[in-house]
Amino acid sequence: SNPIHVIGGGLAGSEAAWQIAEAGLPVVLHEMRPLRGTEAHRTEGLAELVCSNSFRSDDAELNAVGLLHQEMRRLGSLIMRAGDANQVPAGGALAVDRDGFSRAVTAALDAHPLVTVAREEIDGLPPAAWDSVIVATGPLTAPGLAEGIRGLTGAEALAFFDAIAPIVHRESIDMGVAWFQSRYDKAGPGGTGADYINCPLDREQYAAFVAALVAGETTAFKEWEASTPYFDGCLPIEVMAERGPETLRHGPMKPFGLTNPHNPTVKAYAIVQLRQDNALGTLYNMVGFQTKLRHAEQVRIFRTIPGLERAEFARLGGLHRNTYLDSPRLLDATLRLRAAPRLRFAGQITGCEGYVESAAVGLMAGRFAAAERQGRALAPLPPTTALGALIAHITGGHVSTEEVGGPRSFQPMNVNFGLFPPLDCAPKAPDGKRLRGTEKAQAKKRALTDRARADLSAWLGEPGLPAAAE
Ligand code: FAD
Repeated sequence: SNPIHVIGGGLAGSEAAWQIAEAGLPVVLHEMRPLRGTEAHRTEGLAELVCSNSFRSDDAELNAVGLLHQEMRRLGSLIMRAGDANQVPAGGALAVDRDGFSRAVTAALDAHPLVTVAREEIDGLPPAAWDSVIVATGPLTAPGLAEGIRGLTGAEALAFFDAIAPIVHRESIDMGVAWFQSRYDKAGPGGTGADYINCPLDREQYAAFVAALVAGETTAFKEWEASTPYFDGCLPIEVMAERGPETLRHGPMKPFGLTNPHNPTVKAYAIVQLRQDNALGTLYNMVGFQTKLRHAEQVRIFRTIPGLERAEFARLGGLHRNTYLDSPRLLDATLRLRAAPRLRFAGQITGCEGYVESAAVGLMAGRFAAAERQGRALAPLPPTTALGALIAHITGGHVSTEEVGGPRSFQPMNVNFGLFPPLDCAPKAPDGKRLRGTEKAQAKKRALTDRARADLSAWLGEPGLPAAAE
């Protein structure tokens, strides 16, 4: 039969091609390296790790990415198999020998009788004769193809940069200090007039905050990042702070149209607003707070904001070169482009973030494409699994622009427990007592990962794994 075509032999594309071949279908994997490179890749190997050599935590009991590792292993992931076989010591993390890892992935695909690796750039949209294509060309997608995709999606829907504001776990915000309210109580479409969480600063707190931002240590732009113009409308918060002490108060921190119910007679001098970031309401992003501050500096400085003293961050802010789609709007539940369903997307271009997440989305894209070709119906993944939570975030679990109003807010994100539907009831200690602090947090994570394991077993039609074990 017609082969399925996968464009991009990175983390996602390699995994997608493997899954298709393992389902018994021919697949052509198109990779432009070494004929054409990217600004970050150095080798011609498939699944090259462009920066760190870590797949992050391997703890499937208490960590969302560790759970994702475990789920991928259960689904026969090539990326995980090659990672496990090339592990280097890294405590509780899974770190790999990058060359050995890339060689193992390349060799497995080269040796598979159903896989053809074609070393060529797909310049522009793929030929019309290809009826099933997975685009997995990553954050540094070559310009010709990116332009072709833009022609289908519209310019706003394919970003070349992410200007990421930090995202906070809702339950870590002190609502004894902060409050829910929209500016001038305006209810946008689908809104209630109380859609934002507001954190008040008085004059001294504001002055200290601005001073801390200006003094904060930032990460340098890479040369090729600095040379691309993208600053309009997404200036880093510390750059705004440098322009003058009052700039932020007239920008993202303006205090107007808001009244603090905890202290109604005193006007706040400045206010930080957080906007709901996922449909579940478990995550909130700090509006207008995109930043190049170092991660540790962000945690230190943003925790000086009243109400955020104990904030837990689902992700920290950043500004990077990154090609990615406004996926919740553009992709259907099996990662197909609604406007051109022969094209499926996978990897970082769908708005996930990280090596493991990219490979995980590649894994599912490969399975979706194979099932479609074979005329099999694939039951939707339970959103309680790490794989399902990630796919739900990308394909629609996210609050869309239309729902909240304001600028497009879909931003790339690592897998994290904030993407999982909350538990039905809080876990209790064996003696029935209420848990507190770290114990409570750990019991919650354990309950979430146990639920995920059971639900993935049911989806796979397999007997359950013993709790918290591989
Ligand atoms: P890639 O792995 O980039 O694969 C895409 C492939 O497509 C490439 O091989 C490319 O050559 C090929 N390609 C592109 N266009 C075409 C075309 N038109 N025709 C044919 N082939 C094409 N994540 C982490 O977890 N840890 C990190 O430390 C980390 N550091 C990063 C550093 C940088 C500079 C960048 C840009 C990203 C980083 N990421 C990191 C994020 C992300 O996890 C990686 O980019 C990851 O490789 C994404 O996987 P992918 O499969 O989507 O894309």
